[in-house]
Amino acid sequence: MPELPDLEILKEALKSRILGREVVSARALRPGINKTTTPLLDELSGRAFTDVSRRGKYLVISLRPTLHLVVHLMLAGRFVLCKSKTQITKATGLQITFSDGEDLRLIENGSIKLVKVHLVSDPLEVSGIASAGAEPLSSGFTLQALSEMAHGRRCHAKKLLTDQRMIAGIGSAYADEILFAARISPVRYVSTLLGDELERLHYSIVGVLSEAIDEIRSRIGNSLFTDDIRDFLKVYRRTGEPCPVCGTKIAEIRYANTRTYYCPVCQAGGKALPDRRSWLTR
Ligand SMILES: [Zn+2]
Repeated sequence: MPELPDLEILKEALKSRILGREVVSARALRPGINKTTTPLLDELSGRAFTDVSRRGKYLVISLRPTLHLVVHLMLAGRFVLCKSKTQITKATGLQITFSDGEDLRLIENGSIKLVKVHLVSDPLEVSGIASAGAEPLSSGFTLQALSEMAHGRRCHAKKLLTDQRMIAGIGSAYADEILFAARISPVRYVSTLLGDELERLHYSIVGVLSEAIDEIRSRIGNSLFTDDIRDFLKVYRRTGEPCPVCGTKIAEIRYANTRTYYCPVCQAGGKALPDRRSWLTR
């Protein structure tokens, strides 16, 4: 699933390709992909793209006169640019045709189709944007802001990082990386974090995300990529491999519907964390 660093790079790549281009037509190829009934996708015709921005895990693609196509790529959504005559595949959910004979298509491989788009006059009409929490790379996301967020809150550190209403844009993979960098257990209650731990957590949130953006950018340049680049991450999907800090084998637990990766020594006082699947639902 694309997270903040992936989406930042995708935003840049889309911007360099679609700004100023005029739409001739737009259509949904999968029923249900478009979550709004008005305005119709036909309203895109004759408008030009003016901006691409990101809020949490949403991309906001803006057009002139004012209209916004808000996209959530969910697990496997991807954009492709291709000639308009290129055959439409079953994976294609949305087709936007430009006046110059190219298409911007939103595709989603796999049998489960989850990608959502909203066509709105104001992005705040999308509930996930209206309720989105702090942007972790914004100037307002200070140590004090994080401390206030954690103060008295009875939830696990991983939940704080992945709850989009608290901090927007982080998913399971980067939450694990951030907690590893901060040497904090994913199931530590955030209300118990001490001053220096909150400082490390804040530093790691900003640092891990910023470094990931730089790394992904250096790897893919300005291409529209099709897979998330995750091989530089230190604990994500590295169960059984040595921790790059202490050499202990990286462990994993189930956390709600996802796997959580951590170092038992660096993050959990040398103990394996219990594997329980219902934490998030309690
Ligand atoms: Zn370690």
